[in-house]
Formats: sequence, structure tokens, C-alpha cells
Amino acid sequence: MQSLFGEEDFSPQTASLSFADVILPVPIPRMFTYKIPRNLLSEIQIGARVIVQFGRKKILTGIIGKVHNKAPQAYEAKPILEILDIQPSVNPLQIRFWVWMSEYYCCHIGEVMFAALPSGLRLSSESKVQANPNFDRENAPYPMDEREDKILDALEQNSELSYEDCEKVLGIKTIHPILKSLVTKEAILIFEKVQEKYTPKIETRVRLTKDFVSDRKSLETLFEELAKKPKQESILLKYLRDVPIFQSPKLNEKGLDKAKLLEEGDSESSLKTLIKNGVFESFKQLINRIGEVEPEKEAAKLSRSQTQAVQEIKGHFEEKNTVLLHGITGSGKTEIYIQLIQEVLESGSQVLLLLPEIALTTQIVNRLQQVFGSKMGVYHSKYSDNERVEVWNGVLSGRFSFVVGVRSSIFLPFDSLGLIIIDEEHEASFKQFDPAPRFQARDAAIMLAYFHQAKTLLGSATPSFESYYNASKGKYGYVQLTSRFGDSALPEFHLANLAADRKKNLLKLDSSRLLREKIQEALGKNEQVLIFQNRRGYSPYIQCEDCGWTGQCVQCDVSLTYHQFAEELRCHYCGYKEKVPSSCPACGSTQLSTMGMGTERIEESLTLLFPEARMGRMDLDTTRSKYGYQRILDEFGAGQIDILVGTQMITKGLDFGRVTVVGIWDGDRILNFPDFRAGERAYQQITQVAGRAGRRAEKGQVIIQTRNPEHSLFEKVLKGDYDEFFRQELIDRKKFFYPPYVKLVKITTRHTDFKKGEKAAIALHREMAKIPVKKIVLGPEKGLIGRIKNQYQFESLIKLERSGATQTLFKEKLGEILQELQAIPDFRSVRWIVDVDPS
Ligand code: ADP
Ligand code: ZN
Ligand code: ZN
Repeated sequence: MQSLFGEEDFSPQTASLSFADVILPVPIPRMFTYKIPRNLLSEIQIGARVIVQFGRKKILTGIIGKVHNKAPQAYEAKPILEILDIQPSVNPLQIRFWVWMSEYYCCHIGEVMFAALPSGLRLSSESKVQANPNFDRENAPYPMDEREDKILDALEQNSELSYEDCEKVLGIKTIHPILKSLVTKEAILIFEKVQEKYTPKIETRVRLTKDFVSDRKSLETLFEELAKKPKQESILLKYLRDVPIFQSPKLNEKGLDKAKLLEEGDSESSLKTLIKNGVFESFKQLINRIGEVEPEKEAAKLSRSQTQAVQEIKGHFEEKNTVLLHGITGSGKTEIYIQLIQEVLESGSQVLLLLPEIALTTQIVNRLQQVFGSKMGVYHSKYSDNERVEVWNGVLSGRFSFVVGVRSSIFLPFDSLGLIIIDEEHEASFKQFDPAPRFQARDAAIMLAYFHQAKTLLGSATPSFESYYNASKGKYGYVQLTSRFGDSALPEFHLANLAADRKKNLLKLDSSRLLREKIQEALGKNEQVLIFQNRRGYSPYIQCEDCGWTGQCVQCDVSLTYHQFAEELRCHYCGYKEKVPSSCPACGSTQLSTMGMGTERIEESLTLLFPEARMGRMDLDTTRSKYGYQRILDEFGAGQIDILVGTQMITKGLDFGRVTVVGIWDGDRILNFPDFRAGERAYQQITQVAGRAGRRAEKGQVIIQTRNPEHSLFEKVLKGDYDEFFRQELIDRKKFFYPPYVKLVKITTRHTDFKKGEKAAIALHREMAKIPVKKIVLGPEKGLIGRIKNQYQFESLIKLERSGATQTLFKEKLGEILQELQAIPDFRSVRWIVDVDPS
């Protein structure tokens, strides 16, 4: 990591390195150079948090990104005021990774820092006041009033005051005008004091004192003494019930949570008496929010093809950094991961396993926990701030040498990764849309692995075209698994022709005859059914039958989704909602009808068709709570649900043996992805959801309902030849200049005023056209959704040659252009959003 210290490979302790570049949480695309005061030289470390003055009046907390000896040319460097960390919070590899991310994804390194640190560790929090060191009170140019003097007096006693302290000093609540005046007179500085929001969890526990454990007699005597003190006796009995020390005296050491001991209504004062009399002792203990789990199962014995895949993967790793494991659904990729993870952990390196959205894949997490127990940390998107900090600290301390996590886990403080695995690597949810950094976690992870000199394994049944392309060019190693574990067969596909059924009057509540038959068959054999529809709510919109009115969001150019249960129309883009009107707001007609099917309505119609079946629904609306998803999965696993209707949540990683029928409610909707990736996405989505069927003995059945059974894509999916499909699609990608042949950058210009937004987008377009690299600039066009939350959207799409030099130059120039445009008064309030590798 020496390169971080500038060209001279000096350790930062060397006296000649007297400047530090500090990462600050401000929207300016660079670090800021500060002078390192002599007395702090020996303490300065990359990754440590520091306090610095920013501008004339602000004090900020930042992280040291670089130490060097080049004085800035444009300004005189101010000194670093304070170092907060003895142990750096962030390691040099992470900083290198942040720098790369900000450059590659065209965002500010402060934004990366903000995304990377869990908010529990995040820096600025409380505003504090300190005396301005450059202020000479004796020779102040302005007179101070009495209250101002009082504050300054207090600051001579204390190096800093909180706002609350100031209120106390003055005995009044309205201190802002006084502080403001003091700031204007340059007598004080207001700064954000770093306070970690993280609060450790501490429990009070009690246990028997030593004598009573080692000597059975004394316990008997004690019971005799307590015979007339039933309240104390009750506590003692309860303790012995919960902590069976006769079976194992060692159990007494851990004791029992005091709250638990008293939870059945025993008296606290009696417990106090017992403690006073030396029967019990109480002690405090730091509790891990993330509990300890003992490994309970061995890794499975690999099948022959799994063993061979492991060998091939390791073989490729000898020469290549990245390997793509292309294994059909149910081929047993998880056990292959387990084998590799074990080997890397034994060699002393760390492992990171990325999953698309952890809540969606608890099955795999449970399986891994059985094998790895508490060595494994889970970085969950539904974890609280405090829990996230514990995972972070667990990685720092070495408690977790292996982490399973969602995309943000690439920011954890690993220092010696040996392997990163990305499961379901084709998943679009690895890309972060908002806010910046708009990174693709798979791509970023490959870069992270490179910094650690680690290996990356990408796993998927339907690889992304980018990865498959790299594998076909030999850049990545390629390993294939073509049969399911235990030789269960791949499911059988059927197309249900909705148009034909309609003609023959066979459609019932929008379900085809074939789907109904297959469901009926499955229910008869006590098997389970999954129904996939990627649209939550009751119906996508409601429409007036008389005048054609549809409910539109007031802030966005989209129609409102009808949610029957809540009796509301909701915008899925901005969250706007309103009550369902009883008559048409345009013409007054009461003939309002619901159009199209969301999961809520499908659940309702299947209930009508199969009244004896037990229904379940899994979508964003039914899984909002922390364990909502888990509860539905548990019920489904326990066979308490016969038919489960769900959005893409049910397509990922579910492994339930009794699912034999998968229905794709609206196959046509899947085809209409508004993007050059439509084909790729449709293929992936259908294959993934189909892969949930027939994972054990029974062969699965997949029914795709469609009005276009002739569509060529269905034919390709049914054929199941991914390679052929890929090669055909590539022809178009090449012809029309799309990835993987070019790199895309999308820039969205946003403004509340249509004209102003358009003008800014055109100005940007004109400037970009001048950048001297090989490229195609498309747009600006009104966004796919013209307006979101009252902001008009204009999009430019840039197709860049795949060369690294082209991209670097383009991004550099783009940064300059945006800064210049932003400086134009007319464009001050315009927002520009740069999305590199959009998906
Ligand atoms: P994939 O992730 O490739 O779709 P899974 O890893 O979920 O497949 O494996 C499919 C099923 O086969 C799971 O139920 C898993 O427990 C089982 N399985 C896979 N490999 C083994 C093995 N070596 N021994 C026993 N069961 C296995
Ligand atoms: Zn109407
Ligand atoms: Zn809206």
C-alpha cells in the first residue's frame, strides 16, 4: 500500500511527510490537503479520523486518505486540529478501494465514505462550540455583550461546549442568535463533534456466589434458612430451575440475566437482600447482539461432479483471478462454495460471500450457519445500526473471518481477503441506483479482490452477459455444472395460450385452463405451487369505463396502483397515496374498473378458484417487517401454504422439495423490459423462477401464460441452450453498440422546471460532444418516466469504447464539465446524476 504515501516509499512517521489529504463529507470531488502539526506527526495514520477546519467557519471530521510532502499550490494548508483514532477506523486497502470507486463511478469520495461506514460509526453528529484559536479577546475589534462574554468565559474553562452546555451557562433556551453573533465576530467556531452512535448492549446478570456452588451442604442450609422467607426462596428456586448447576456447576459462571430471573413477578428487593447477604452476586456483561451459533452440521459430501467442479475452479485460479461457475438451478452450487470457503479459511484468509438481498435467501444463510457457526458474520439489510457496527467490529477484531452479506458488505474492513464469491451474479439488485455511489457490487467486488490479491468466484444458472462474455474470451475461467444434484430432472415447460382460451371461453378470472389443471393436480397430490407476477398491489391501475380516466400520481408521470386491502391508490415511485375515489373524478361515472392483475388480485382470484387451498402472498407489502419474509418462508416450508403468489422475491434461491408447479402469470410482461437487456433479463427471470420447481424426486411443471406463444424468446428459454441464446443476442448488441461491446454512462438532468431542465440537459450534451474520445452520445431525451416527485428527467446516454484510457479521459472531462455548468447561475439548482454502467 506504499503508493498511498506518494512517490517516496516512506512510512508516514518520516518527518518529511508533512501534509495529509483528508476525505471530507462534502460534495466536492477530491480530498483536501492539511498540514500535519509537528506534535501530531508520530500519531498520524492513514484511515484515522481527524478534525479539521473547512472554509472559514466550519469544523469537520474526516478520514486521512494520504500522507505526502507536497504543499498545495492554490491555497495555504490549514493544520489538522485533532486526531480521533488511535487505531485507524479504516484500513489503507479500503481507502484505495474508495478512491477507485469514486473515480470509476464518477462520484465524490465523501459520498463513498458516507456509504461505506455504517451509520452507527458515522462521523459528524453533535454540534459543539469552541473558542477560535486565532481570536484575541483582549484586542477584539468588536465589543461583546454580557451574554457573549459569559460564553467566552465558559470556553476559557472548557475546551468545548455543547448547545445544552451553552443553554445552562446562560440559563435561557434561545442561544442561537448569541452563538451566531459570536461566530460573526470570529470569536468562536462551531463544529460537529464526532460521536459514534453505536451503543454497546450491556446486561446485568446474577449468579450464585462460589460457596453455594462448590458446597452442596451450604445450599441445603440456605434452603432451611429461607423456609420462612418465601419470596427469596422463590427466586432461588427459579434460578436453579433455569441454571441447572447440579448437572453442571460450570453453568453458574454465565449466570442468568437479571431481568429474566425477575420476569415472573419475583420481587427485586428480595433479590437485593440475597445479594447483600452474599448468596447471589451481580455482574455486568457486554452482550453480542448477534448471538453465538455453534456449528451443528458437517459440510455435505460432494458428488462426483461437484468435486470435479471444485478441482476445475481451483485449477483456473492458478492462472486467473476470476472464475464463472455456470451451474443450472439445483446443481448444488452452495456446497461447492462451502468447500472452497473452508479451504480459504483454513489458509488463514478472509472470505466474503455476496448475495443479492439477504432477506430473500435465508435458506442459504441457514445452511452456511450450520457449517460455519459463529465464525460467520451476516451483513443484513434489515439489521439495525448497532447490529451493523457489531459486524463491522467483528471483522476488525477477527471474530468474523467469513461474512455473508448484501452489496454494502464490500465496504467492511477486511484486511486479508482470500476469496470473494458472488452468488446469483446476474442479479440486477447488485447495482445501487440511489444515492451515489451508484456501484455495481459484482464489478466492485472483483476490483476489491484485485486490491487484496484475492480470487473471485461468480456463480449463476443464468450468467450476466458481461461475465459470460468475459468467460468466452478467456478472461475469466469457466466451469459448468449441467445436472441437478441427485439427478432430479429440470422442469418441463408449457405455454398457456391466453388468447386461444379466451376465444373458447376457457379463461376464468384471467387464469388459463392449463394452469388451473396443473394446480388442481398438484393440490390433489399434496404438492405446492408458486405463482409469479412481478407486480404488487391489486391492479396496476383503475380506469373509468365511460371516459377512460386513469388515476395518475400528482408528482410523477405514472399511473397509480390500486391496493385493495388498504383501499388506496399508491405511487410505486414516490410513495404518494390517496383514497380510492367512489366515482370518476373526470366525468362522475361510477363505472370504475380495475385493470390488470397485481399479486393481491391474483391471490384473491385463486382463492375463488381453489377455495380449499391455503394461500400465501410474498411481496414488498407482506414482508416489510424484519422477519416478515422469514415467517412466510417458514410457513411455506412447513407445508402450511399450498399456493404462494409472489413477486421476484420468490424467484431467488428458494429450495423447497414439494414445489412441483410454477406458474408465470404474465409472460408477456416479462418480455417487455424497456431496455437493450430485455432478452437477457427475460431469459434469466423465467429460468430462475422455473428453477424452483421439481427440485427433488417429482418432475416440475412450469406454465407460462401468454398472448404471444410464438414469441421467439419463449422458444429459446424452453430449449434451454444458454450459449446459443447468448450468441444470437450478441449479434444485436454488437450491431447497435451495446455492452459488452461498449461501456455505457447515463446522465440524468433533473429540475422542477421543464424548460430549465431541458436547457441544462442540452448544454451538457453540447459540451460532452466535444470530449475527444471515441464515443456515441444519445439524447437528451425525456426520461422513461418523464417526471418523478415533481422533477422532470432528461437522459443522455453515452456509449464509450471499451478502452480504459478512453473511459478515464471521458470521466475526467465530464467531471470538469459538470463543475463548470454547475457554476453557471442559471443552472445552480439543476441536479445531474451520473450513472456508470447503468442497468
Ligand atoms: P443451486 O444453488 O445450484 O440452485 P443448491 O445449492 O440449492 O443448488 O442445491 C440443491 C439441493 O441439493 C439442495 O437441497 C441441497 O441441499 C442439495 N445438495 C446439493 N449438494 C449436495 C450434497 N453434496 N449432498 C447432499 N445434498 C446436496
Ligand atoms: Zn370518467
Ligand atoms: Zn409518484
